[in-house]
Amino acid sequence: MKNHNMPKPLEIYVHIPFCAKKCAYCDFLSAPAGRKQQEEYGQAVRKEIRGLSDTEDFEVVSVFFGGGTPSLPEASLLTDILDELKIKLKFSPEAEITIEANPGTLTKEKLSAYRNAGINRLSLGLQSADNRELQILGRIHTFEEFLESWRLALEAGFDNINVDLMFALPDQTEAGWEQTLRRTAKLGPAHISAYSLIVEEGTPFAERELNLPDEDTEYRMYDRTAEVLAEYGYEQYEISNYARPGAACRHNLGYWDRTEYLGIGLGAASLFGGQRFSNTAVMAEYLADSGDPNKIRRNLQTLTLQEEMEEFMFLGLRKTAGVSEAIFEEKFGKNMNEKYGSVIEKYVRTGFLERRDGHVRLTGRGIHVSNTIMADFLEG
Ligand code: SF4
Repeated sequence: MKNHNMPKPLEIYVHIPFCAKKCAYCDFLSAPAGRKQQEEYGQAVRKEIRGLSDTEDFEVVSVFFGGGTPSLPEASLLTDILDELKIKLKFSPEAEITIEANPGTLTKEKLSAYRNAGINRLSLGLQSADNRELQILGRIHTFEEFLESWRLALEAGFDNINVDLMFALPDQTEAGWEQTLRRTAKLGPAHISAYSLIVEEGTPFAERELNLPDEDTEYRMYDRTAEVLAEYGYEQYEISNYARPGAACRHNLGYWDRTEYLGIGLGAASLFGGQRFSNTAVMAEYLADSGDPNKIRRNLQTLTLQEEMEEFMFLGLRKTAGVSEAIFEEKFGKNMNEKYGSVIEKYVRTGFLERRDGHVRLTGRGIHVSNTIMADFLEG
């Protein structure tokens, strides 16, 4: 029987696959596009939203406009999509609504339009506070242009801002990384994400001879990140994410807690109704069929109980709080230790995992080998 009093939380991701120009390291689904193509895409996204079904029992707790560069198109493209979502779906009054934006694409007018539409969180892609590094990365902006966007965002009333950073860049030193961290933290954003550069096949970086920091230096840069940011009041709450108290990104936490989410737009991934699937990554297919979401969904996978438990473990372990034994039991009707006791014990013995207050979590050392540990839960 459906319980209409207790809506289930739902997260929405909307993919905007356009960028002013491609960065040298980027393998995301994004490309430059003219105004007409952008508008056509915006219409197709709204059609997809109108065609959604089985969403009556849900309440939207977060929306994330990601890309690509969602701040590249006219603001109305995004705000019309948000309006469409609000017509179609029930929203929590406290919903966190984020837009990813790149310095160099923001104006005062755009920022005001976002605020007026109810967007309450901004994620700025800075990557580095060093102009030489920004140039090597192929970014379209300088650090000074970022500062200008930062100022405009504050003026427009944004008080929940994330800044994305990247380390282990070509020719980057530990001191250089620390300077980027300090320059950013001094501004006092609510949230900072810091990922290491991964050179992906098929990107211009993969073709170049790059002078990348060695593994030990990268480890030290990683450890230094939490130390430096702690000086400015940031707590690490996930492998690559740091926030002031109370400012952790609810949308991201939802992914790691396996809250159901619907990905709208080209190539967007979903976890919904016990299934994982992703939309077609072929623009022509998306534009033709978005009005019938079932036609554009690919790679449908119905999760078994076993797979759900595995996901709970390896996604949940990304959080510094770790995974809760009680929640595991409540969700799956099984004891976590009966199911994964031997894997957990193995890593507790080696000092990579620890048990505390009914949670199992990665230790500082464990984070460095997290991929290996998480893979072990897949065979559980
Ligand atoms: S702005 Fe982001 S999505 Fe666009 S090309 Fe650069 S890294 Fe890729």
